[in-house]
Amino acid sequence: GGERKGKPRPTTPLSFEEIGGQERAKQEIIEALDFLVHEEQISKFGIRPLKGILLTGPPGTGKTLLAKAAAHYTDSVYIAASGSEFVEMYVGVGASRIRDMFKEARQKAMKAGKTSAVLFIDEIDVIGGKRDGGQHREYDQTLNQLLTEMDGIHTAESPKILIIGATNRKEMLDSALLRPGRFDRHIGVDLPDKKGRKHILHIHARNKPLHDEVNLEKIAEESFGFSGAQLESVMNEAAIYAMRDTSESLTQRHLSMAIDKVLMGEQTDREATK
Ligand code: ATP
Repeated sequence: GGERKGKPRPTTPLSFEEIGGQERAKQEIIEALDFLVHEEQISKFGIRPLKGILLTGPPGTGKTLLAKAAAHYTDSVYIAASGSEFVEMYVGVGASRIRDMFKEARQKAMKAGKTSAVLFIDEIDVIGGKRDGGQHREYDQTLNQLLTEMDGIHTAESPKILIIGATNRKEMLDSALLRPGRFDRHIGVDLPDKKGRKHILHIHARNKPLHDEVNLEKIAEESFGFSGAQLESVMNEAAIYAMRDTSESLTQRHLSMAIDKVLMGEQTDREATK
């Protein structure tokens, strides 16, 4: 409806239900989070506390959404950063940024009256790339600081911190990050299959008027290889086509055109980076 005009889009999905497809990833992350939620149990059994979850997979598949949903599920505050924010010209600045980030997470949780914080670090490979014999001293210090902070997290501590890292280049990560007690839980977040694509399309169609004839099953078929982010664009582009047509609703044709548009956009992007 017209009342949405000018308002920011609701971009903060809160629950796992708002993430389409990714059933296996969702189940795996929930299982891991349950360790955090049922803390008394894990200490009774002497199980090593969960500190880090690594989400791996191509861009736009919902890794950020999963981290946000994880924060919601565990009733934690959510803090996000990207690995590239820690790359600095001056030695030590990256490391001190890492320290600040952990401090901020604790303070934010305390202020919000929560007992835990989820710290999401996208592009973690930028900080945690393989250390290659002292070539990148600054990165080393930043990575070392991250390891130190992770080692310093204890279950008894309050607020607790759970780190969720994301990367689409897992093979690039320094093995120190993958050791037990660090990012020892790895969850693959792959491109959605047809069922997943249909689910994602449904989610992004929620606030849009769809024509009765629209067959999302077919659109899911036609969008083979699309990520969640691309499917979100398809819905958005289709809505723009519908509006330009002064149509009452989004039709199958608008959606098919939108698929082509998104595909073409990707090609242009690729040309531009050549
Ligand atoms: P990157 O690696 O580029 O950071 P990402 O995997 O973290 O990507 P998100 O930021 O979670 O991807 O997704 C970007 C947007 O794409 C989301 O805000 C959402 O609109 C849409 N999206 C992606 N995956 C899904 C999904 N599984 N269900 C619903 N929407 C999705």
